[in-house]
Amino acid sequence: MFNSLRFRLIVSYTVIIAVCLAIIAVALTLIGRGNPLSRELTQERLVLTLNNVTRLIQKDLRDGMPPEQVMADLRARFDTLQTRVLLFTGLNRRILADSGDTLTGHDLSEITTGFSARLPDGSITGNINVGDKQPWTYMARPGVGARNTGILVAQAPLGVTLRSPIYTQMLRQLALSGCIGGLLSVLLALLIAESVSRPLRRLTKAANAIAEGDYDQTVPIQGPTEVHELARNFNSMAEQVRASQQSQRDLLANVSHELKTPLTSIQGFAQAISDGAAGNAESIRRSAGVIQDEAQRMARMVSELLDIARIESGQVVMQREPVQLGAVLHDCTDKLALRAQQAGMTLHVHVPDDLPVITGDGDRLAQVFTNLIDNALKHTPEGGQVTVVARSLAGSSIVRRGKTWPAGVEVRVADTGSGIPPEDLGRIFERFYQVDKSRQRGGGLGLGLAIVKQIVEAHYGTIKAESALGIGSRFIVTLPLDPGAETTQVAPRKK
Ligand code: ADP
Repeated sequence: MFNSLRFRLIVSYTVIIAVCLAIIAVALTLIGRGNPLSRELTQERLVLTLNNVTRLIQKDLRDGMPPEQVMADLRARFDTLQTRVLLFTGLNRRILADSGDTLTGHDLSEITTGFSARLPDGSITGNINVGDKQPWTYMARPGVGARNTGILVAQAPLGVTLRSPIYTQMLRQLALSGCIGGLLSVLLALLIAESVSRPLRRLTKAANAIAEGDYDQTVPIQGPTEVHELARNFNSMAEQVRASQQSQRDLLANVSHELKTPLTSIQGFAQAISDGAAGNAESIRRSAGVIQDEAQRMARMVSELLDIARIESGQVVMQREPVQLGAVLHDCTDKLALRAQQAGMTLHVHVPDDLPVITGDGDRLAQVFTNLIDNALKHTPEGGQVTVVARSLAGSSIVRRGKTWPAGVEVRVADTGSGIPPEDLGRIFERFYQVDKSRQRGGGLGLGLAIVKQIVEAHYGTIKAESALGIGSRFIVTLPLDPGAETTQVAPRKK
């Protein structure tokens, strides 16, 4: 509970409000205390009052009226509630009469505090303790009446001090506003916390569901920007997990299906041989031949499966060696030439002599072109043509994964075969994607082109396919001169 976002927000808001109010209270006190304006106002008020009082009792004092009598007269004509008026002797500063009565007979020096100042008109000003919580400010004018009698008026200062009622009032107001602010902040904190924690709770629920095997999870994009981002990333992660699960299911389904056919065939022919159903030597020889073919097919499938698994998990490290691509292409076509000839096809190879030497993995690149030429032969009818053309790309560049390399070579493998339907063209590089499984000859797994693409991309190259139904297909591979890395490791697949 103390760790919750809600609690933390409420505490931080409350602390901020309390600190702000304390700063305001201190600032107001300092301003009130040190305010030169309030000091000036107090002085001015005192001068006015002193002048007033002097005007009222000056004559009485000059006439020698007893101080008590003068004070009584003054009280009758002047409201001394907010003002303390003292009459004192100029000789020893003894208080002769006090409008508040308590100070008569005391010595002025006993109750004046701090420094006093003499003003240009001869009056004296300073602080005096008249029995209030705080010292008052006074202004005295000696020698006003007979025997040097002086008048002193004192008033509470106008400024705000810690003990003044205005300050208490101010504190009360501040406390009230603090309480209101606190309540509002709690409400705000609850709202903000809810707006963040609601989408987070949904995310947690969805993540738990994924952990329990329910991969079909998408969370709504809600809340503040950061939570938005998190939700978006979560959705894309869930999508990838789903795709990966699907691809695992596909893999199992494909593999078991594809291996079942040759296995059934092998089983059948082996049974025929052992039962003696394949009677004569010729029939046994034919059965053994079929078993051999099917076993070869299975071996090829298993090797392709291992290949893609290793490439995708990043276990395959591409070599970085100088590769004479012309020689590689001639090797590939030489190996397939007999097959092309037997199938009544023509296999052309055009490799210029000045083809630049590129850096890469020769064996893996041979695998790429063997696969492409093999596919071309598989999908081209008798009498068709398969052409392999290489050319230098010196002067242009290849951009891949945000980087640019000087382009080295372009190789085109073209055939005059069946072609690929436009709707399939964009998907043929996907794992296990086959255009028409029912008509597929040679029983591939749909992994060949996926492996080809992985190898080309590990060389920071590009591959694309162009095709027209019934006319033929063309696969164009471009490879940079030198990917420039020590070794080029195939990054593990994201899905
Ligand atoms: P497989 O190993 O099963 O042949 P590939 O990944 O090599 O799978 O090819 C994927 C699909 O692309 C195949 O089903 C095939 O129909 C199609 N394809 C590949 N090359 C050609 C081509 N040269 N002409 C027509 N179709 C092709």
